[in-house]
Amino acid sequence: MKRIYLDHGATTPMHPQVLEAMLPFFGQVFGNPSSIHSFGREARRALEESREKTALALGAAPGEIIFTSGGTEADNLAIQGVAEALSGKGRHLITSAIEHHAVLDTFKALSKKGFEVTLLPVDRYGMVDPDDLVSALRDDTILVSVMMANNEIGTLQPIEELSRICREKGVYFHTDAVQAIGNIPVNLKELPVDLLSLSAHKFYGPKGVGALFVRRGTKLGKLFFGGGQEKKQRPGTENLPGIVGLAKAIELAVVDIPGKAAAMAALRDRLIGSLLEQIEEVQLNGHPVQRLPGNVNVSIKYVEGEGLLLDLDLKGIAASSGSACTSGSLEPSHVLMACGLDHQTAHGSLRLTLGHNNTAEDVDYAVEIIKGSVARLREMSLLYKNYRRKNDNPQTGEEETSCITKK
Ligand SMILES: *Cc1c(COP(=O)(O)O)cnc(C)c1O
Repeated sequence: MKRIYLDHGATTPMHPQVLEAMLPFFGQVFGNPSSIHSFGREARRALEESREKTALALGAAPGEIIFTSGGTEADNLAIQGVAEALSGKGRHLITSAIEHHAVLDTFKALSKKGFEVTLLPVDRYGMVDPDDLVSALRDDTILVSVMMANNEIGTLQPIEELSRICREKGVYFHTDAVQAIGNIPVNLKELPVDLLSLSAHKFYGPKGVGALFVRRGTKLGKLFFGGGQEKKQRPGTENLPGIVGLAKAIELAVVDIPGKAAAMAALRDRLIGSLLEQIEEVQLNGHPVQRLPGNVNVSIKYVEGEGLLLDLDLKGIAASSGSACTSGSLEPSHVLMACGLDHQTAHGSLRLTLGHNNTAEDVDYAVEIIKGSVARLREMSLLYKNYRRKNDNPQTGEEETSCITKK
């Protein structure tokens, strides 16, 4: 059976050059970077070269990169680390309502430890209003964290403006850039963020490795205690194969971002256009323009998202509803709810995230399959039958008009 992977927001396949770069570090180069002998020095050299490559790709200095076990740890280290380091200065924290759970749940945990957390709302496209940030800032605010690109709906936040507001007030600004790296240019020489999280497996690198950018001079506590690795900020023997893979992946990811993003956005718009045109009662979630080049998120009325996903999987289409972490639960996506969707519409959401290997043929094939699945599922839906009846005989229809419009 033909299988098409449209879930690059959950994870990406490793780039062959990344795998190639990593292989020696599972074999002959096995030394501990902290050892002083030649085996250790060889490993240390690879570690520091990886740090330099990673820093270069971001416009950072090597000393500003801390390798972690992934995006979740980077988010935790940034948020818990600042909360700990600055708790004497203030106990007020600000984040947005649509963050990834790695951020949101960390703030939730801190709110149980005596910190006060303000959640910034978003508009119906999932966008934070910088004026809301200005109003939320207080004298005791110590950290603001707003993601660069949303993992469910792809909305890109005005990070430049938000971070500038914080810089002017002397408040630390963290951004979860896990979805952004490789999709939108990030230059930390110009962007006034203090902390930035990334994760290798979201940009064609290995799983279980990420990094936190910590701008020089930023005060930060730590999560773990142990050895002196990563300037004592993140002790534990380094995951050298993973770190080498991350460095290779980010080096490749930042080559010609505008070119790659334009090609992917064209595919994305082809997919969005086809879904909206060929299936009735479909709405696009997220921002129509300010969105990740590979992100499509639609709500398909009279269809239950999880049911659609299972049916698509049987036919070889790998997609997702909301985020991978919340699928399986019956809670509607907190992101879609924050955008003001009702429960039913939020439950009918389908996320399709494109990657560099996807083609126009993949997109057209997926649309055909989705069309078939939606038609079959709707045949079994009483709500849909009612809708059809009212739509076909408008004079007898009493139901108020749907808030979902087919564009
Ligand atoms: C995937 C993801 C994370 C978590 O990264 P892991 O490396 O899987 O722990 C955090 N934030 C966002 C926005 C993500 O998409």
